[in-house]
Amino acid sequence: MADDKLRLVLFGAPGVGKGVQGDLLQRRFGIPRISTGDILRRAMSNDDPESRQAAEYVSSGELVPDDLIDRLMDKRLGEADCQDGFILDGFPRTLGQAMHLETFLQHSELALTHVIDIEVDAGVVIDRLQYRRVCIKCGKVFNEKTDPPPAGGICDDGGVIVHRDDDKPDTIRHRLEVYLKETAPLKQFYEERKQLLVVNGNQDIKAVHEEIVAHLEVPTP
Ligand code: AMP
Repeated sequence: MADDKLRLVLFGAPGVGKGVQGDLLQRRFGIPRISTGDILRRAMSNDDPESRQAAEYVSSGELVPDDLIDRLMDKRLGEADCQDGFILDGFPRTLGQAMHLETFLQHSELALTHVIDIEVDAGVVIDRLQYRRVCIKCGKVFNEKTDPPPAGGICDDGGVIVHRDDDKPDTIRHRLEVYLKETAPLKQFYEERKQLLVVNGNQDIKAVHEEIVAHLEVPTP
């Protein structure tokens, strides 16, 4: 490795807790969490053909095409705050994106340091997603059952807290199918590179965080 900075991917099905864990890691290590889902949701209010098309994919639970995602990520990863490392949440999601990211980093003689695969039982994931509420501005995650949003539905930062269209039962099921077909095969890609580390996401938030941190203390080859 060219340096000792953390360049992580948080990997796993929708609802395993990538966003929550990404926030904790961002605070602990002072490096940005980059969520392609958050970037897309912010862009969805733009009134241009590409944003409108992306909004259709997101609302129906389909993956946005690789070329748009790759362009967004090249731009984001080139920003100054990524120089000290980063935490990727929801990217890459296809083999094409994983290969693009690898090539992008290789241009700077860099590589990912860890790919953290958060594994959660399928029933738990569906339950979490349907009660999930998200701040449209900062991406902070709430849960109607276990961690309800503030009364009035406004986050600390003034953002509106929503029940995402794609967190409704039919779309959740479709997103899980898409995950199994398009994204789960990446585990083998990262296993071959000896970067994949599996974490038990069925535990409480703090225990999952500590398990991740324990892995990060050991560099991958
Ligand atoms: P997330 O917030 O990560 O659950 O992403 C929400 C939705 O945004 C996904 O269901 C996709 O429609 C889209 N999306 C997010 N990240 C990607 C990606 N890396 N590739 C393609 N589509 C994505």
